[in-house]
Amino acid sequence: MLSPTALLAITALLSLMMLFVIGSLLRSRVPGVREWVWANIGVLGALPLFALRGIIPDLLSIVAANALLMFSIAAYYAGCARFLGRPAHWHALCVAIAGGAAAMLYWRYVTEDETMRVVAVSVIHGTADLAIALLVLRHRPPNRRRYNYWLTGTLALLFGAGHTLRGILFLTTPELQVFSSSPLSIALMTLGAIVMPAMTMAAVLMIHDAMLASAEDAANRDYLTGALSRKHFDALARQEMTRALQRGWPLSLILIDLDHFKHINDTHGHAGGDTVLREFVRMMRANLRDPDVLGRLGGEEFAVLLPATDTAGAMHIADRLRMRANQHLVTGPFGVCHYTISGGIATWHEGETFEQLTMRADRALYAAKISGRNLMLTDVLPADETAPEAG
Ligand code: GH3
Ligand code: MG
Ligand code: MG
Repeated sequence: MLSPTALLAITALLSLMMLFVIGSLLRSRVPGVREWVWANIGVLGALPLFALRGIIPDLLSIVAANALLMFSIAAYYAGCARFLGRPAHWHALCVAIAGGAAAMLYWRYVTEDETMRVVAVSVIHGTADLAIALLVLRHRPPNRRRYNYWLTGTLALLFGAGHTLRGILFLTTPELQVFSSSPLSIALMTLGAIVMPAMTMAAVLMIHDAMLASAEDAANRDYLTGALSRKHFDALARQEMTRALQRGWPLSLILIDLDHFKHINDTHGHAGGDTVLREFVRMMRANLRDPDVLGRLGGEEFAVLLPATDTAGAMHIADRLRMRANQHLVTGPFGVCHYTISGGIATWHEGETFEQLTMRADRALYAAKISGRNLMLTDVLPADETAPEAG
């Protein structure tokens, strides 16, 4: 069986290794990494103090060591909060750490009671673990693989349960001591020892997930406007066509081109033109629904895919977008720019390829351009009698 000192040494080694791993991710700029680094530094600071119990004053080996360990779990919580874009509540965390340190002082120097110290530590760590689990499981990012977040949440719940068990055991077993070589005592210490390395490993998996998601996002988006790249738009369009076929939903496409954009560049400069493109995409996003897909096909040409939308619905949406663009004034160092858009709409028909659908929408766009611009027109298959139009 391991001695308490050997266990502390192994924990210190594990924490040091995890500190290097998490420290190497500092430059990823993922929020929360800094706090997770501090969590491991806190553990590394606390362990030698615990190991020197009986050699150094209890103020250091009991009060300071436990306060450092409470700081560690608080910093871990704050890291999760920042990672998930939630408030870290550092004020409340500091109050909890101060309360924990006061409890250590009281049950060491006012009334010597090791059991109550253990119970206080278990309550604080158990609560922190539960808070971490709730935070991560409730606020995990949507549309990502659940595995990494469930791992963090489950580990936190398990450790929380371990701390609760420890508190109960100390309350009900008077002969149990914190630092003894009894198997139960060693088992409880082992549980406490692996908390931070295991939680840090779970944090590293979450960071990897965030970095992969951000790399994928960067590859799938147009750098200037943030709209989807043509390649990704095409891929999503094919997926939407399969979905429309399976569910029997209509699917419409609008091709949009900014009118006289060369003139905008000539008047406001290329940088001014860039701003207009960015602001146009921002305006579009604000006026589209969640499932709608917006892509930049190239230059000043964009495409919007409207799932579960028939021709009449697409016409309504397209014309609203056209009016919003017409009312949209873009301002910047270049002055004030007014712009208009033209568009072509086509609704997908079973058996039609994406290229054929795009060609029909493009034909309608061309018709809108030669009809005077600032106009949205639909293209219908030859079998259809009427082609609704607006503008
Ligand atoms: P139309 O109404 O017929 O569409 O006329 P237009 O001037 O908009 O069309 P044209 O295709 O003749 O010109 C498009 C212009 O868009 C030319 C090109 O320099 C400009 N452009 C393409 N990509 C960008 C970009 O990323 N930034 C800026 N500022 N201009 C761009
Ligand atoms: Mg144009
Ligand atoms: Mg064009």
